[in-house]
Amino acid sequence: MSAIQTGRGKRRRKFEDEAESDEEIELAPLGIEPVNSQTSTQDETNPNHQPEVIPKTKQENISNKYIDQEDISTNSKKRKYELLHRNNYRNERREIESDAKGRTKSTNNNQWELEQFNKAKQIGVLPTNLDKVNLPDSDKYEYVFDDSQFVNYNDNEDDILKGDDEPVPPPPPPPPPPTVKDIKISSMDQVRKSLPVYKYREEFLDAISKNQVLIVVGETGSGKTTQLPQYLHEAGYSTSKDGLNRKLIIGCTQPRRVAATSVANRVASEMDVKLGHEVGYTIRFDDNSGDDTVIKYLTDGMLLREFLNDPTLSKYGALMIDEAHERTLSTEILLSLLKDIIKTRSDLKLIIASATINAEKFSKYFNGASILNIPGRRFPVTIHYTSNPEANYIQAAITTIFQIHLTQPLPGDILVFLTGQEEIESMEESLQESIMKLGTSLPNQLQICSIYANLPPDMQQKIFEPTPPNSRKVILATNIAETSITIDGISYVIDPGYVKQNVYNPVQAMESLVVVPCSRASVDQRAGRAGRVGPGKCFRLFTKWSYYNELELNATPEILRVNLSSIILLLLSLGVNDLIHFDFMDPPSHQSIIKSLELLYSLGALNSKGQLTKLGRQMNEFPIDPMLSKCVLTSKKYECTNEVITIISMLGESSTLFYRPKDKQDQANRRHEKFYHELGDHFTLLNIWNEWVDTDFSSQWCQDNYVQYKTLRRVKNVKDQLTKLCKRSGINLNKKSDSFNPLYIQKSIIAGYFPNVVKLSMMGDSYRKLKSTDGQPCHIHPSSSIHSLKPPPKLLLYHELVLTSKEYMRNCLLVDEKLVKEFSSHYYSLKDL
Ligand code: ADP
Ligand code: MG
Repeated sequence: MSAIQTGRGKRRRKFEDEAESDEEIELAPLGIEPVNSQTSTQDETNPNHQPEVIPKTKQENISNKYIDQEDISTNSKKRKYELLHRNNYRNERREIESDAKGRTKSTNNNQWELEQFNKAKQIGVLPTNLDKVNLPDSDKYEYVFDDSQFVNYNDNEDDILKGDDEPVPPPPPPPPPPTVKDIKISSMDQVRKSLPVYKYREEFLDAISKNQVLIVVGETGSGKTTQLPQYLHEAGYSTSKDGLNRKLIIGCTQPRRVAATSVANRVASEMDVKLGHEVGYTIRFDDNSGDDTVIKYLTDGMLLREFLNDPTLSKYGALMIDEAHERTLSTEILLSLLKDIIKTRSDLKLIIASATINAEKFSKYFNGASILNIPGRRFPVTIHYTSNPEANYIQAAITTIFQIHLTQPLPGDILVFLTGQEEIESMEESLQESIMKLGTSLPNQLQICSIYANLPPDMQQKIFEPTPPNSRKVILATNIAETSITIDGISYVIDPGYVKQNVYNPVQAMESLVVVPCSRASVDQRAGRAGRVGPGKCFRLFTKWSYYNELELNATPEILRVNLSSIILLLLSLGVNDLIHFDFMDPPSHQSIIKSLELLYSLGALNSKGQLTKLGRQMNEFPIDPMLSKCVLTSKKYECTNEVITIISMLGESSTLFYRPKDKQDQANRRHEKFYHELGDHFTLLNIWNEWVDTDFSSQWCQDNYVQYKTLRRVKNVKDQLTKLCKRSGINLNKKSDSFNPLYIQKSIIAGYFPNVVKLSMMGDSYRKLKSTDGQPCHIHPSSSIHSLKPPPKLLLYHELVLTSKEYMRNCLLVDEKLVKEFSSHYYSLKDL
């Protein structure tokens, strides 16, 4: 048997900004502790310690520790595994150690790991003398996955998420793939009729015929999203009742793009129509709906933008605001606007659909609107907590997957909740590698699939495919799988208890992507995913104490924690001038509104009376942040719009642009460095795009340069959409030119991003925003092309902040004093510089 090494220390730590929710970010563990630290720490503090080498014969006898107490006592199955994970952890620390010894050019990840590692040492979860540990080369050894590597869970009879009193029997297995169209339709029909919502079809239609607004509350998976719009269509709400028989649209909003596309896909096949015709979707930069569309799934943000051109939403006969419990900013503003327009549009039906949280609040907001409860089928779910905090939750999750797979019966798929694409991709890589190396010693196949915001639609469908016999599916998902989409067949949920969020600090006017602990309501929803097909189990990678003492009861609504300038600009365009008295469900703080107004004023979108200017109206033509649209509009003057919209399209996707295969890290780094530009990341991104264009969008070029082809395809799509929007706004794009003037591009960017200018501190070790010298110190993100620049630039501007162990600035552009003075003398005083 060959030696095993699956170190994951080199994974890229990058962050993604998804303006249309499904925020995704890399994790910031609260500290690092190896899985089962009690067993491994002891060994590793010993400088002479050698990794445990277990002779093959002995490996045969190593027992597994089973997850259930009853299993532990009754099950005598003993299996051998080669252990990968503890080994990974050691390798990772070895890399960190060498960084700590001052390797001059550390990779981005090592830098991140090093910080996490030092932080963990500070809070005392790692042995402090680890720096001295000289780990031997583990390539020489074989490892086994014995019980000391298993994660310890507390088992307690009381920790049960109750099911329904009389559980309905599990749904029939999905029908085999139909060969004839008729068979297909009838089996689809059967599946539709088996959903819990079907029994309430008449009650629902009756309630909506008698009420203009109806709140529908139902367990995830009961069929609200896929069925209710179809019922409305079948009942004729897609035809106007004014005698003219006009075609009307049944709209259904989703906070997440993936949910909108995936559900539209599903409903199109249920109705046996081609996606984009009767059933379509609209998400930012991707409109797949047509003139014949009657059922349209769209993001809440896109419906909000439709108000700009059609303030009464006259095209719609009924609207379902789905996932209302998520309380996203766009959904809440939609609810406020809809509350207003239904007064004049008495023919418009409004359904507010929510998982089983907060329903009364919506009813109250809509003056006591009726609530229709749809009981889902829910089986009890046993909750298991870890005995100790699992700071390295990725490792703990991987170990738990194997624990489940090796001890629990089939069928029963596993759902793991992670914080973002990057984390999912790196975990998938580790898992695939482990599976490959475990080879035939795994009793049954493990199939890995994933779901996150940017996953292409054809890949999304994979998670819905039935699991083949004798195998188990592991789905790695962002919190999109919490309520937005339902995956059948899940019996086990692994929940580290984190989510990625945008958080705005109005005092410092700083917005940052952060990984935060979930609320209790949210982790309970996640656990519920295990109880749809039968009794399930949920493994929480945190302690019971933490659940009761550290988690908030409910998540903070987005409106109370994000920068409001985009939404305020939109509201002003819709004629909502009195923001203080606007009918918010939960009003944002005055301070937050005032800061956003100040920003819009400084960008020139508002005049001194707080009225929208011509520029402000033009900015609203673009479905992007006002700071970005200001850059686009400024670029017109400098005739560099082509370059500026390229940079903007690239910035949105930059977190998933590069990849570094484990065995070719140095080579990949060298290729990436070739693109670096001395003025910073904005120009580095432009270099990448321009080279790709010169190769005629070649996928081979991407492969050769370790750049993700599918990311660049997305960038191309976004750029095409922005190009159209520019043309619509009368901005002609200059031809791509190899001799662009960097100064003009810098000027266009700083025109929108001057609030993000930072200055090097006296000590030269960090940056602070110009206006708040006592504000939060920021650091150049290790992934930045100017991260190692010597001496560090005195002034720069950042595109976004991400908070892990420190406040990091991601995507930085060099600027100078002259530029700052030219573009922001109205914002900064001379002493700020
Ligand atoms: P709810 O909105 O109440 O959570 P849904 O209408 O989303 O429920 O889901 C109902 C059923 O439709 C689920 O059992 C799920 O398996 C199935 N479903 C939803 N989307 C898809 C899809 N894209 N592919 C296959 N099945 C799907
Ligand atoms: Mg739904």
